[in-house]
Amino acid sequence: MTDHDEVAVVGAGLAGCLLACFLARRGHRVTLYERRPDPRGGQAERGRSINLALSERGLDALRRIGLDKQVMADALPMRGRAIHPVSGPLDFQPYSSDGERAINSISRGALNNALLDAAESAAGVRVVFDHRLTGLDPRTGDMTFQTPAGEVSARAAVVLGADGAGSAVRGQLLAHAGLRESLDFLDYGYKEVTIPPRDGQFALDPGALHIWPRGTSMIIALPNPDRSFTCTLFWPTGGTGSFASLSSPTAIERHFRAHYPDLLDLAPGLVEDYQRNPVGLLGTVHCSPWQSGGRVALIGDAAHAIVPFYGQGANCAFEDVVELDRCLEETGGSWTAALPRYEERRRDNTEAIARMALANFVEMRDKVASPVFRLGKKVEHALERALPGRYVSRYELVSFSTVPYAEVQRRVRRQHQVLGGAVAGVGALLAGAIGTAVMRGRRRR
Ligand code: FAD
Repeated sequence: MTDHDEVAVVGAGLAGCLLACFLARRGHRVTLYERRPDPRGGQAERGRSINLALSERGLDALRRIGLDKQVMADALPMRGRAIHPVSGPLDFQPYSSDGERAINSISRGALNNALLDAAESAAGVRVVFDHRLTGLDPRTGDMTFQTPAGEVSARAAVVLGADGAGSAVRGQLLAHAGLRESLDFLDYGYKEVTIPPRDGQFALDPGALHIWPRGTSMIIALPNPDRSFTCTLFWPTGGTGSFASLSSPTAIERHFRAHYPDLLDLAPGLVEDYQRNPVGLLGTVHCSPWQSGGRVALIGDAAHAIVPFYGQGANCAFEDVVELDRCLEETGGSWTAALPRYEERRRDNTEAIARMALANFVEMRDKVASPVFRLGKKVEHALERALPGRYVSRYELVSFSTVPYAEVQRRVRRQHQVLGGAVAGVGALLAGAIGTAVMRGRRRR
């Protein structure tokens, strides 16, 4: 049995490291347990996204611990989407009405390492690698870990599960504390391929998130600081027209030549990447409750993993940390009061972003290619300019603000109702005016 911890955070990923930093600021003694070896200086884990889009919610959390500037130093701002049709020119669609606001492509590994450094150097934080949680008694805080040296035990007054979508802490709450869960897997998976630099430069515009929308499938590409792009292919996992249907190099090349003709030239190693890289699974985790007895709680993907199509999973996990910190502040540091309050405040919001992320998949893989969608975006941006602060698009509210996700959904619904009413009103006025003109014309005749 190791020392008695005040707080154990399980999982030194994005949420766990940030959480340790916030708790250290409040004066807690924290042990951060991570199943992997220390990732600093090592290779990125295969099968996880290499880069991710960081936006305002994530930045807001990083600002609070003074890490935003360091993280943003290597970020590549993407001000819109560049749509690649099967043939014809690229179409750039700005994210904001002024064309200036950007989401930021950053290296997941670099972000995790920066957060690990920050956690490790914070007073009162101890980081323990090669410790995979395998057992937990939620009533006592007794934990069991698998380590290279065998099984070890530890105990903590509070245990926080930041151990990702397949959370072992959630599994223990399921087994011992009445938690219920549902895992909604998408019938789509993802695979990463690389566009290397061309003559030392980016092969595509690094100021955009590139999308190849193809209806039932799509590829996106985000730039990396080494001037490569990481492309992620989203495709069904089974059946015809799926990852399962392509295996030979000839079939892979034929498929990409037909559907993504420009990509084969941009990514000369595409066929090898396709054959070598694994297919990752995608899904949404719903579970309840997130906490047990004010002693054990879940945070980030462990509580509510979502599909990646709004680029919000990590941003949302960071918001969880900010909210938990706020609840501890408001309750004078009482875990038994703070943990239920944190769950109550976050649940509606995480459910809202889970829904919006699923809806955005259809938008990205299909709608962005349509002229009607393009026109709609132009009208939306014109409205934002005409009614500043009063009409704000869903994308802007999600990506460039910290308005709670559930409020974003309500506000967008209200905006659409008002707009629908206004359009109907203008329609009625026009119909009335046309009717009067017709009557006058008839009387004159
Ligand atoms: P994780 O990052 O999964 O960290 C969990 C940690 O716990 C890991 O270090 C793991 O090793 C450790 N662990 C697991 N089990 C145990 C155990 N039993 N004992 C001890 N340690 C354990 N989000 C965005 O905001 N923007 C994006 O653009 C974006 N793109 C994405 C693209 C893809 C393809 C995918 C799959 C996800 C994307 N996400 C994105 C989502 C984002 O990656 C997650 O939401 C985020 O990583 C969640 O952070 P977390 O700390 O909760 O979990």
